[in-house]
Amino acid sequence: MSILSNKYEAVIGLEVHAQLATKSKLFCGDSIAFGAEPNTHVSPITLGHPGTLPKTNKKAVEYAIMMGIACHCEIEKDNFFARKNYFYPDLPKGYQVSQHTTPICKGGHIAIKTDGVARSVQLNRIHLEEDAGKSIHDIDDDYTCVDYNRAGTPLIEIVTEPDLFSAEEAYQYLTEVRRLVRWIGVCDGNMEEGSLRCDANVSVRLKGETKLGTKVEVKNLNSIRNVKTAIEHEIDRMTHMLENGETIIQQTRSFDAGSNTTFAIRDKEEANDYRYFAEPDLPPFHLQQSFIDSIKQALPALPAALMGKYEHEFGLSEYDAAQLCQEKEIAEYYAAVTAHTNHYKAAANWINGPVKHYLNEHKIHISSFVLKPAQIADLLLLVEEGKVNFSVASVKLLHAMIAEHHKTALQLATALNLLQVSDANELETWVSTALERMPDKVKEYRKGKKGLIGLFVGEVKKLSKGKADPKVVTSLLEEKLNGAD
Ligand code: ADP
Ligand code: MG
Repeated sequence: MSILSNKYEAVIGLEVHAQLATKSKLFCGDSIAFGAEPNTHVSPITLGHPGTLPKTNKKAVEYAIMMGIACHCEIEKDNFFARKNYFYPDLPKGYQVSQHTTPICKGGHIAIKTDGVARSVQLNRIHLEEDAGKSIHDIDDDYTCVDYNRAGTPLIEIVTEPDLFSAEEAYQYLTEVRRLVRWIGVCDGNMEEGSLRCDANVSVRLKGETKLGTKVEVKNLNSIRNVKTAIEHEIDRMTHMLENGETIIQQTRSFDAGSNTTFAIRDKEEANDYRYFAEPDLPPFHLQQSFIDSIKQALPALPAALMGKYEHEFGLSEYDAAQLCQEKEIAEYYAAVTAHTNHYKAAANWINGPVKHYLNEHKIHISSFVLKPAQIADLLLLVEEGKVNFSVASVKLLHAMIAEHHKTALQLATALNLLQVSDANELETWVSTALERMPDKVKEYRKGKKGLIGLFVGEVKKLSKGKADPKVVTSLLEEKLNGAD
């Protein structure tokens, strides 16, 4: 950040479009599956032929309400759709059905944390609308081709207030939005495939100024990292403009991921006139409180609630709890492990450590992990009971179990000779050898340098190839070292 950052502050508002994970479109039965042959999911309703009648997809309404509840919004009971009229080649009807004055979810907030500080980002609204088709510019030299498959796909648009103040906050906010939509299952959150899309509105003003500066809107941001980079670039560009006495004009800009910069695509001198009016082909829909309540009941425990439970009931650190709750399936796996053991901290360490490590290394999602939560519980119990040491268990034994997942942890530990030796007689020889090897250290220990105990334990571990039980070894060593010469 430049020295200018003491003088100016940035204000950011994000508009996020999330494609809802329904089977069919918002107003007809056409499939919304990604990657189909172009123009195969295009019934007359999608194409807006005269005489066709759209019908609202109840699942899409449910999904929008789910997101609204997850974001603490007020749910609007009296809803209707509006036509937003504009011409665009990939908009077959010449208008987009959206919600204008009555978004289904009003207000609300999403919690974020930046540099360890938590705060809530205020939302303006979440509304339902339909997606447009896709213009394809790069498959024909002379023509732009249009694929209408996507037209009519249900979207929610999540709009914040101008309530984000740095690129990092925007990054954290989007990460949280993506986690939430995936967590409650309303959208797959895949930005590369376009199921989650973000436009960033950015303005800069003098610190202390209460009026908002003129904003620019950056489009075509297809990753969370690009959103951050584009905002950083805009803040820098606009601050320099202000510092040079230039006037910022309201613009729509596009992000170029190649150069990490933005360029103007159009100036927006006055508001567009979309000639909104109530959609005449769709009846208004009223939501019963009981319907909203039943959706609320069915929502899974949200990440914040689970993190609180893991911290306060299970005694995990905030960091461990947050690691477990990055993804719902991981959090659920952890919950399933703790149904078999109350070594909560050890279970968290196993999942955040060796299990995730294995999954990442092999690019496997937890849902296809061969080991069942009960097996991980068995494995960690062997360590907790001192039968196998952690480093041996987390590498050798874990891999052995994955390879032969029908055998128990104990069977495999026995077969592979990984069980710790805790029989004092067997340990005796290793302990004596270790002490004989380090006579000087033994003297120092006896003079009071008690910290050397770790060194002796380490030596015994080495001699035993990790099989000596460190607890028994420690007491044997202490007995010998503190006893008579
Ligand atoms: P538009 O009509 O241009 O789409 P809206 O008022 O609907 O503008 O706002 C769109 C988004 O831009 C919202 O997220 C809002 O918070 C944000 N926004 C509005 N004005 C500013 C501003 N001056 N600076 C930063 N963000 C802004
Ligand atoms: Mg906008």
